[in-house]
Amino acid sequence: MDFNEQQIERYSRHIILQEVGVEGQEKLLQSKVLVIGTGGLGAPAAMFLAAAGIGTIGLVDGDVVDLSNLQRQIIHQTKDIGKLKVQSGKETINEMNPDVNVITYNTFVDSSNILDIIKDQDYDFIIDGTDNFAAKFLINDACVLAQKPFSHAGIIRFHGQLTTYVPGENAPCYRCIFKEPPPEGLVPTCREAGVLGVMGGVVGTLQATEAIKYILGLGESLSGYLLTYDALRMEFRKIKVRHNPDCGVCGKEPIIKNLIDYSRPVCDLKSGTLKG
Ligand code: ZN
Repeated sequence: MDFNEQQIERYSRHIILQEVGVEGQEKLLQSKVLVIGTGGLGAPAAMFLAAAGIGTIGLVDGDVVDLSNLQRQIIHQTKDIGKLKVQSGKETINEMNPDVNVITYNTFVDSSNILDIIKDQDYDFIIDGTDNFAAKFLINDACVLAQKPFSHAGIIRFHGQLTTYVPGENAPCYRCIFKEPPPEGLVPTCREAGVLGVMGGVVGTLQATEAIKYILGLGESLSGYLLTYDALRMEFRKIKVRHNPDCGVCGKEPIIKNLIDYSRPVCDLKSGTLKG
């Protein structure tokens, strides 16, 4: 791969890093990342992935831009209200970095389409930027079954959490940690409970960091850890989490062989698990 002069300048702060260099930048340009949800988490994640020169970015969302999104979903602007979120996201990315090929999927993920979407471009890494438990368990199970690494995250009020699943490391998946969605109505949604706009910026950017590190083979991922962020106390905690041999999808005798559509979307965080 030959860089042109503009690319050398665009990526110069990466290239100068010994850990990245020309080789690393080539890896980024040849990589493919799928971002599911272009909301509070997916918007900043997709923008930093695009700025970094991830060569192919898939955007999945079945929603249109709403005025109430703009407090945190920074990939969308006021002029985009009413536009498909994937279209708005694609336009922002194209304006930022013409090196990026954006593939759009104007749909919500469910058991009938998620494996096809993941396999569509044989994505290297998946970002879960969704806002409900049904999607989070679906993405987890699909990534485990397809043996794809992914970053889970959730945000609500002033709290955030994230973890990374990497296949083959005997590390926990999301279901190892949380088992199944909470009963309906137990956990409020972001719409009901609110969320500080910057939470997605902090946590979504950490998800992009995990993707970039994974592609470059740098450092240690959050595989085997749950990172929690309390913005009011300005406190990050890295909690060791273990693989569950009885996990329904990645345990010794998995019972989940087909994907499940949980009925009602709830929201991000099991707040009980954050206290301890
Ligand atoms: Zn598991």
